[in-house]
Amino acid sequence: MNLWYTEDHSPNVRFSMRIDEHLYTGKSEFQKIDVFQTTEFGKVLTLDGYVMVTEKDEFIYHDMITHVPMATNPNIKKVLVIGAGDGGTIRELTRYETIEQIDMVEIDQLVVEVCKKYIPQTAAKLDDPRVHLHYEDGLKYVRSKENEYDLIIVDSTDPFGPGEGLFTKEFYGNCYKALTEDGILVNQHESPFYTEDALGMQRAHRRILGFFPICSVYQVHIPTYPSGHWLFGFASKKYDPVSDLKAEAWNELGIQTKYYNTDIHVGAFALPNYVKELLKDAE
Ligand code: SAM
Repeated sequence: MNLWYTEDHSPNVRFSMRIDEHLYTGKSEFQKIDVFQTTEFGKVLTLDGYVMVTEKDEFIYHDMITHVPMATNPNIKKVLVIGAGDGGTIRELTRYETIEQIDMVEIDQLVVEVCKKYIPQTAAKLDDPRVHLHYEDGLKYVRSKENEYDLIIVDSTDPFGPGEGLFTKEFYGNCYKALTEDGILVNQHESPFYTEDALGMQRAHRRILGFFPICSVYQVHIPTYPSGHWLFGFASKKYDPVSDLKAEAWNELGIQTKYYNTDIHVGAFALPNYVKELLKDAE
């Protein structure tokens, strides 16, 4: 068999993976959902033809979206997660005994059902009793929330289709309002490398800056995302992600991770000059 999955990473660049089996294809009210068994990356979830999660490299994304805010403020008790239908972010959060409640707001119930069936590696902890699943638009959900969450994680698709509203000023303003006085917002912040992605990331940065006194960006490398160079946004009312890092306290928890450690936490905020320039231009 010589089957390949191919995704456009830019109008001029394509990325391909060899497929052993097309395990699932379906269409929800919001998007096309596919699961592939690939030779190199294990099972892969795609939405509307974009890779969301692969079994081989998901640990990088999920470690870094979760443990960076948790090590900055280990007292986080109540978390809101928006998107995240594959369950990987929830899996990492449930490793903290100190977290009391996790509200997950995912627009598409079918993504969750498909991931529970085909990708238990990420979806296995969605039944944790602290996790409350809400199937609705995250943009609408946060409108009525005030001073409620210590941490909001936006684990969304890209800024088009159902995810578009999660990159707007309205959304970031409501996240600010929904957070407690020492609240932290971490979001999937697109890539700085290809022009279109970079414009999206600059827009997001500019909008978040309008609300939060502390607003920075950190980087990871994710082999299956466009260019492999990906960013997360860290915005906060009080905590600086580097000077307030509680490295000793986090290391004492003994959480075993494959990517995250407290050295890479600090290093991830050291940005290449071209990214610094893009951020400066956005300001
Ligand atoms: N790791 C991924 C990435 O960056 O490619 C994101 C993974 S997760 C599967 C993204 C989820 O966000 C999807 O399941 C999608 O249905 C959900 N989503 C998109 N727009 C949303 C919205 N407005 N409200 C809540 N969830 C949304």
